[in-house]
Amino acid sequence: MTETFEGSFTQQEPIPEEAIARAVEVMRSGRLHRYNLAEGEAGETALLEAEFAEAMGMRYCLAVASGGYALACALRAVGVGPGERVLTNAFTLAPVPGAIASVGAVPVFVGVTEALTIDLDDLAAKAGQADVLMLSHMRGHLADMDALMALCDARGLKVIEDCAHTMGARWNGRLSGTDGLIGCYSTQTYKHLNSGEGGFLVTDDEDIAARATVLSGSYMLYERHLAVPGAEVFERVKYDTPNVSGRMDHLRAAILRPQLAQLAARCEAWNARYRTVEAGLRETPGLRVVERPAAEYYVGSSIQFLLPDWGEAAIAELLARCAARGVELKWFGGAEPVGFTSRYDSWRYAPSEPMPQSDRVLKSIIDMRLPLTFSLDDCALIARIIKAEVSAVFQAGLR
Ligand SMILES: *Cc1c(COP(=O)(O)O)cnc(C)c1O
Repeated sequence: MTETFEGSFTQQEPIPEEAIARAVEVMRSGRLHRYNLAEGEAGETALLEAEFAEAMGMRYCLAVASGGYALACALRAVGVGPGERVLTNAFTLAPVPGAIASVGAVPVFVGVTEALTIDLDDLAAKAGQADVLMLSHMRGHLADMDALMALCDARGLKVIEDCAHTMGARWNGRLSGTDGLIGCYSTQTYKHLNSGEGGFLVTDDEDIAARATVLSGSYMLYERHLAVPGAEVFERVKYDTPNVSGRMDHLRAAILRPQLAQLAARCEAWNARYRTVEAGLRETPGLRVVERPAAEYYVGSSIQFLLPDWGEAAIAELLARCAARGVELKWFGGAEPVGFTSRYDSWRYAPSEPMPQSDRVLKSIIDMRLPLTFSLDDCALIARIIKAEVSAVFQAGLR
């Protein structure tokens, strides 16, 4: 009998009951805007910011409307202007170069290694072209953050971290998003916390925190925040920082707070699923598992494997065979942007130099989500299906 998988790769867990109850309370109050507070009330949004800052071990936190907004706000807060170049990963998702383009700046793409992290040699070669690196920890793969920060510090590069896939992850014990000048996170449905849309920005830099807060649309009500610097810092920045509204509201904050309390347990639940799939995929001829460094505590909310030097026809055949058995795989090598996958050369507003080594890696990457609604048995079944189909296509010599 041929096994098939019946689950949905885009089905997340329900919002916890406690979070639903809080959201209902917010709706009953009628006070959804973050600055709409009753006498003596801190508000869900400010409380969430204080809790997230504490969870990340950072001084300042701002909750915003989306992860992409957090990235663009970070660029504005460090003063990136039109025409400036910003280094970023060739292997990332569209909101990252999009955030750079949204401030009129120009992305300069840095290559990707077979570990699926930024190529530090290419970064060193391009470091002179920009003042800022927008570092995307794409699909949760952390570069050697000790080496990366040493390189960026030596070359005077400010680092903004895109932690859309690494909330809760660590390098050598340090939480992702806390090494650079600013860490940005998304709470969109497919990320590690789910408020539909939403995001955070964290920093220890008081001027950046103040500018980001005014940028997000604080209407000079910044004293209603709990994770921002003192009023004297706002005095320095408030007259020359524009309002580019992108606030979070109490409703989203209310459903995020109980989820944040569960983050560590959720990360462990993802990793149990990741390890089950990874174990099931090992020793499959033609397939390479991406080995994770010992210094990395990853969050396995998705898994990637490589099909090195497979041809396009063989990959298409594999994806079709897996899809027929209910397993939804994504390929990063396609010439056309499809769904969430796209390649640096499909963002035509940002001209790029060809990067043959990165192209070779991108062409080999297969990507799969691992929502927490999958059981460990589901994960083992998915791995058996992939293994069988990779073996069949590989042995047929189709590649
Ligand atoms: C989702 C995502 C973002 C942006 O998040 P949104 O909340 O959707 O704007 C940024 N970077 C990466 C890599 C992402 O996957």
